[in-house]
Amino acid sequence: MTETIRWTAAETASAIADGKVTAVEVAQAHLDRIEAVDAKVHAFLHVDADGALAAAKAVDDARARGDRLGPLAGVPLALKDVFTTKGVPTTCGSKMLDGWKPPYDATLTRRLKDAGVVILGKTNMDEFAMGSSTENSAYGPTGNPWDPSRVPGGSGGGSAAAIASFQAPLAIGTDTGGSIRQPAALTGTVGVKPTYGGVSRYGLVAFSSSLDQGGPCARTVLDAALLHEAIAGHDPLDSTSIDAPVPNVVEAARSGSVKGLRIGVVKEFAGEGYQAGVLARFAEAVELLRELGAEIVEISCPNFTYAMPAYYLIAPSEASSNLARFDAMRYGLRVGDDGEHSAEEVMSLTREAGFGAEVKRRIMLGTYALSSGYYDAYYGQAQKVRTLITRDFEAAFGQVDVLISPTTPTTAFPIGERADDPMAMYLADLCTIPSNLAGNAAMSLPCGLADEDGLPVGLQIIAPAMADDRLYRVGAAVEAAYLSRWGAPLLDRAPAL
Ligand code: GLN
Repeated sequence: MTETIRWTAAETASAIADGKVTAVEVAQAHLDRIEAVDAKVHAFLHVDADGALAAAKAVDDARARGDRLGPLAGVPLALKDVFTTKGVPTTCGSKMLDGWKPPYDATLTRRLKDAGVVILGKTNMDEFAMGSSTENSAYGPTGNPWDPSRVPGGSGGGSAAAIASFQAPLAIGTDTGGSIRQPAALTGTVGVKPTYGGVSRYGLVAFSSSLDQGGPCARTVLDAALLHEAIAGHDPLDSTSIDAPVPNVVEAARSGSVKGLRIGVVKEFAGEGYQAGVLARFAEAVELLRELGAEIVEISCPNFTYAMPAYYLIAPSEASSNLARFDAMRYGLRVGDDGEHSAEEVMSLTREAGFGAEVKRRIMLGTYALSSGYYDAYYGQAQKVRTLITRDFEAAFGQVDVLISPTTPTTAFPIGERADDPMAMYLADLCTIPSNLAGNAAMSLPCGLADEDGLPVGLQIIAPAMADDRLYRVGAAVEAAYLSRWGAPLLDRAPAL
C-alpha cells in the first residue's frame, strides 16, 4: 500500500473508478500512514477513521451499483479545522471550541461529501487562523515534513504538512493573508487562494470576513484544479459568494502553456529581508518562463509597501467583531459558571482562559482601531490604502496577464524562532497579503530548494479576480517544465520521516 499513498488525487480517482483498488483500501492506506507518521508531524487535530471508512464504502457501493463516479470520488482529504463538520469536532485550533461538535456542515464540507471525497479528519492550525507558523495552535505546533524541527507555515500548517507527508493527497485551507499559499511554499506543495467569493464561506468560522477565502491544497496543479472545481461556485447562503460561472480551472490545468503570455515581475517583492536562496530560485523561475515563451515585464506596485500595515489593521478589526460571538453562552468553553459570578464575569473569565496570546493581541488591536476617535485614523485609513492596492493591481493587469513573485521571503524557519516576535512572524506574509486585500486569485507552487538550507521555495502566481484559470494554465506549464528538469517531483527529495 505504500505506493497508494504516493498517487496523485487524479490517479487515485481513476484507480478506484477502474476497480484497481477500492476506496476503502485507499482510505485505510492513508489512515495507516497517519498512524505511522503523524506523531512526528502533528498535522491532524482529529482523525475520523469511522467517518472516512463509511464515506469510502459508500463510494465503493455506488461503483458496484454502476453509478457514475465524480472526478474525486473516493479520494481522501484533510480538512482545516476551521470548517464546520456536522457531529465532528471543530476547534479552530482554540481551547475556546474544545469539544464543540457543530450541528451543521459548511457548504464546502457538504460539497466535498457530495463529490464522494473521503474526509480523513481535521487539521491543525493557528488559533482562529491567526499566524504564519501553526505555533499559535492551542494544541501544539505542527512539524514541517522536510524537517520536523521547523514550521510548516501557517495558519494552515496542518493541511500543508498532511499532503507533504503523504497522509492525504488533498487538503483544504483558508487564506486570509496567505495561509494557503505560505504553507504551500514552505512544504513544497501547491496551494491556491481562489478569487474572493469564489468558494463559499458558509460554515467557515470567520476570522476576517472581507479577506477569508477557502481553497485547495494538493501536490500537483491538476489535483488542486480538480479540488477547486469541486468546492467552488455560487452559494445563496453566503452573501459575498459570486453568482457567476466558475472559471474552467481543470481545463486550464490540463492545457498548461505560457506562450505569448505577458508576465509581470513585481518589483516591490525583493530586496531586504529576502533570503538569497529564495531570490536565486525565483530568478531561475523568471528565466524558465522566458524560455517557455512568456514575455517578462517588470511592474511596479508602489502601494504594496503599505499592504502589511493596512492588513494588520483591517484583519484585527474584523476579528475583534467576529470573535465577539465567543461569549461563553453559545459555544464550547464556559468558565466560572458557579452561581458566584455574573454573566459578564463568566464571559470575561472564559475569554481570558479560552483565547491564546495572539488572538487577544488582535482583539485588543482591532477594538482600538475601531473605537470612536481612532476609527478614521486607523481603520478608515487602512481601507483607503486597500483601495490604492486594488488600483495598483488594476494598473498592473492592464499591462500583463499574470504577476509573479516569491511566495515568501524565506524558507521554513525553526519552531520557536519567531514565536516571541510578532513583527518577524507577520513578515512571512509580505508577498501574499496584497491579493487578499484586493480579492484576486493567487497560487503558490514549488520552484526548487534554497541552496543554503535545502528547503522548498515557492513561486507565487497572481491573476485578476475571476481569472483563476490563468493560475492553473501558468502553474501547469511551470510544473511540467520543472518535472522534466528535475526528473521527479520535488517532494521525492524530502528526507524520509
Ligand atoms: N499570517 C496572517 C495572519 O496572521 C495570515 C493568516 C491567514 O491567512 N489566515 O493574519
